[in-house]
Amino acid sequence: MSMQQSYQHILQTIGEDLERPGLKDTPIRAARAFSYLTSGYEKSLEEVTNNAVFPSDNREMVLVKNIEFYSLCEHHLLPFYGRVHIAYLPEGNVLGLSKFARITEMFARRLQIQENLTQQIAEAVESVTGARGVAVVIDSAHMCMMMRGVGKQSSTTRTVSFVGDFKENTEARREFLSAVPESY
Ligand SMILES: [Zn+2]
Repeated sequence: MSMQQSYQHILQTIGEDLERPGLKDTPIRAARAFSYLTSGYEKSLEEVTNNAVFPSDNREMVLVKNIEFYSLCEHHLLPFYGRVHIAYLPEGNVLGLSKFARITEMFARRLQIQENLTQQIAEAVESVTGARGVAVVIDSAHMCMMMRGVGKQSSTTRTVSFVGDFKENTEARREFLSAVPESY
């Protein structure tokens, strides 16, 4: 069954009339939208960071803040969205700044839970740059908590992932966390 047919089936299941003008092209549109929202599966880390690792003697913390993202929770297929903040401690190489957004997109455009998204971004930055340490914070709002279930409209969720030096270095952690105030 194609994704378009699956959406037709879902609309029939809720009692909708597939022939009414407003819904005529909805199954194909919905299928295209869902394919786009999950297009991260087709990308690889190598592809999204291609030719953007540069040698550098700078060993000080690099912090890229406020990368916006939209993802889908793997439990309800409802959106969660917010901001990603990424810091790393370079060890001979730096990564082009736009690539942090590309890495975020690649993992966000898959079915996710926020905890795993945070860790996948941290590990990807470490593996691409060979950094001494990577820290990632994500602040987000979950539609599955806001539109359904407990119906908590103002709750936000922060997740953190530390890799390498950030695990033991409390000074670096403090510097990073104090630079990223709550962003959602
Ligand atoms: Zn959910």
